[in-house]
Amino acid sequence: MTRGHERDLRVSLREVTLEDSERIWRWRNDAETRRGSFDEREIPFDEHREWFEATIQRRDRRMYVALAGGAEAGVVRLDFEESRAIVSINIAPEWRGKGIGKAALGALAERAFAELGLGQLVARVKADNLGSRKAFEHAGFQVVRGGDPVMLTLAINAPRADGRAHRGQVVEGPLPGPPMKGTESPQVEVGSSAGLVLERVPCNLCGSDESRVMYRKPDTRYWISPHVFDAVRCRRCGLGFVNPRPTRTSIRIFYPDSFYERRDVVSEGRRYDLQAQFLDGYPRGRVLDIGCAGGAFLKVLQERGWQTFGMDLVESKNEYGIPIRYGELRELGYPSENFDVVTAWAVFEHLHDPRAYFLEVGRILKPGGHFVCLVTNLNSIWSRLAYAEDIPRHLYFYSPRTLRRYAALTGLRVERIDYSGRIFSPDSTDVFRVWLLRRLGFGWGEIYRSSDRLPIAARLLARGGRLLGVVLMRRQIESLLRIGGIMVAVMEKPG
Ligand SMILES: [Zn+2]
Repeated sequence: MTRGHERDLRVSLREVTLEDSERIWRWRNDAETRRGSFDEREIPFDEHREWFEATIQRRDRRMYVALAGGAEAGVVRLDFEESRAIVSINIAPEWRGKGIGKAALGALAERAFAELGLGQLVARVKADNLGSRKAFEHAGFQVVRGGDPVMLTLAINAPRADGRAHRGQVVEGPLPGPPMKGTESPQVEVGSSAGLVLERVPCNLCGSDESRVMYRKPDTRYWISPHVFDAVRCRRCGLGFVNPRPTRTSIRIFYPDSFYERRDVVSEGRRYDLQAQFLDGYPRGRVLDIGCAGGAFLKVLQERGWQTFGMDLVESKNEYGIPIRYGELRELGYPSENFDVVTAWAVFEHLHDPRAYFLEVGRILKPGGHFVCLVTNLNSIWSRLAYAEDIPRHLYFYSPRTLRRYAALTGLRVERIDYSGRIFSPDSTDVFRVWLLRRLGFGWGEIYRSSDRLPIAARLLARGGRLLGVVLMRRQIESLLRIGGIMVAVMEKPG
């Protein structure tokens, strides 16, 4: 690298567009780039495309192509965290060693401080990635933590490499995009999503480490992270689960406030009535609802003569004065053989350790007591064809068989499983639409977020798929075939 080279180097930034997808994929998969990354495996194009589409739409991320004399020379990225951003950089192989990194980072810092209102830039670089580290240092970043990874920062108004200070001011109030909540320093950086910490776990039901990937899917409901999760199935017992999965702390970012909305007696009254019908045959006694939120369903049971108790992991407004405890079930100290009925409605998919919950339910139920548990059905057309699980909020996918095994584990007996789908029914009209578009190779982003941007033929096909769903997906038939999207299992603790 010569000084002359550097002096002449004009690097500007432009926002990435969909047309950059393939180019950036090539750069990402360059051998040297992979070696310098936290996740060194090669990235398949499908995975890259989904990640890239999501990246373009994310409000907490900005990505720019660095242009050197009009030519695409690399890519830089900002991931917002409060008033700072994590910086990533990747220089095109043919442009390395020409000072592009330093110049692109300088231009990025200018934009981050002056335009985006950020106060600090942070970079994490693998200790042996000397090229990247040098580029950051030449751009004025200071090492604040050694070791591996090395952490470097550049603060607003810090002196620049050329002696002038970075101008700009920290903007008060909302940032350009919603900052990620509950961020922490990542142990495993996968897909380079700051704040997302993944852990790999054995099968929760049988302990096996052998599983096969059923499908891969990002969060297609809130698009909180572009990370594409593996939905796997245990080879030994058939339990479905997300693996690797967000840790207990890290999963919190996937539960925005809107997830908890509409859970009062008025808006959900019909659903609570249907749920209550599952208890109608039992003598009124003490009932515990796992994952009771504000207690609205328990209020309905109370009016029907039940003595009600609730628990939830997350504290929310207790609206009806029902005794509610907060924390993991096992830590709440309910006495043994304490409840006549325990219920859990669409809760067990969300647990990190369903085994612990099953065992605890078995302990706190009175002999002769019942456990009523609503979960999604892995055997459903809905789950099989359209992969319609709410990933990664749903961490486990059950089938009648795995439910029976869990029950057996804790001494419960499955009395019956209701497949009628009358409490919740997933959107059946979506099954064939999603299935068709996936088969045609469209990305999750195109299917769920921007279907208006699909080619006209695909849109027509999607409409046909919906129609097919309306015609073919009949709740009665699904129920008969035990392929309903939702199961309500009623289990008994033998007396
Ligand atoms: Zn298993």
